[in-house]
Amino acid sequence: MPAKTKKFKLSVPKGIATLVPYPPGKPIEELERELGIKGSIKLASNENPLGPSLKALDAVKGALKNLNRYPDGACFYLKKRLAEFLGVGADMLVTGNGSNEIIELLVRTFLKKGEEAVMGEPSFAVYPLAVQAAGGVAVRVPLKDFTMDLKAMARRITPKTRLVFIANPNNPTGTIVKEAELRRFLDRTPENVIVCIDEAYCEFVTSAEFPDSLAYLKEGRAVIVLRTFSKVYGLAGLRVGYGVSHPAVIAYLDRVRQPFNVNSLAQAAATAALDDVEHVKRVRENNIQGLSYLFGEFSKMGYACVPTEANFFLVKVGDGEAVYKALLKEGVIVRPLKNYGLPEHIRVTVGTQTENRRFMDAFMMIAAEGAV
Ligand SMILES: *Cc1c(COP(=O)(O)O)cnc(C)c1O
Repeated sequence: MPAKTKKFKLSVPKGIATLVPYPPGKPIEELERELGIKGSIKLASNENPLGPSLKALDAVKGALKNLNRYPDGACFYLKKRLAEFLGVGADMLVTGNGSNEIIELLVRTFLKKGEEAVMGEPSFAVYPLAVQAAGGVAVRVPLKDFTMDLKAMARRITPKTRLVFIANPNNPTGTIVKEAELRRFLDRTPENVIVCIDEAYCEFVTSAEFPDSLAYLKEGRAVIVLRTFSKVYGLAGLRVGYGVSHPAVIAYLDRVRQPFNVNSLAQAAATAALDDVEHVKRVRENNIQGLSYLFGEFSKMGYACVPTEANFFLVKVGDGEAVYKALLKEGVIVRPLKNYGLPEHIRVTVGTQTENRRFMDAFMMIAAEGAV
């Protein structure tokens, strides 16, 4: 039965009516059915190609029998373990249904209608979504050399600014802002602005100039650091992330969040995943090897890749949309970036060595056919 909308009239705030939804990817099974292919590989969402830690999976199995119970609303054990792991107090931690939820909580807690949040462009698509949905203004500052332009961002801070989002490394570019420039930016930021440093990919960073963002908290700066179990820990499907900030900031976020926002399987898995140092090491090594292989191959063929500190990278291919579609037919899913204002690039997530080779073979074939 088709739904009727005749009998009612929707009144939607402007910030929501003008939102462009986050483009959902099709389920891989559905895509394969449509294209008549099998065994395709997904290098499109910066997921962990090695899967979750076996310790995390065991913990999930153990927690299954208690699914009739509500989860621990305070995430007591996860926060206790995280506090140890990070060397901070448990009262400095907020946990969320993915770090995405914490982004939303930040906006709902600290930004009123008409107020502003400064962010890079392109950067993580969820920041402007959350801000506009709350009736706020997303102030988007173009990147410079694919990197967050902190000087330009500082100039865009006004008395209406409440939040700044710095994805470090940035998604979709993989670049970082370095310790010295971030410190200079924080020095210039007014005290009533909270700077959100989103470190979803920090575990992959190899640069010695990457900031120790928790140190900014110890210096008393108005900063919140976001991390996630979705990337290096391979638990994207369970939805769990966390924020580290001053107890006063955390206390406000805790008032706004739903009481049971992190499910029990996610809590068990995340707590166990922190203990599996070996797994994290394997994931990092796979990434370093994969990047070295992929950058090497692209360089031999004369394609420019943007230097990355994450588990994904940009490569300039000409017509990004065409290459995306051609790769799709070969069963390789990457991310076209027209929506991000980068129509000539695609974003590729580093896979297993087998997946990386399969991607490269498909790309070479397409290039040889003249589609690139
Ligand atoms: C993947 C990603 C996240 C993680 O989101 P979750 O909700 O924790 O899965 C956060 N920020 C950025 C920039 C990301 O790319």
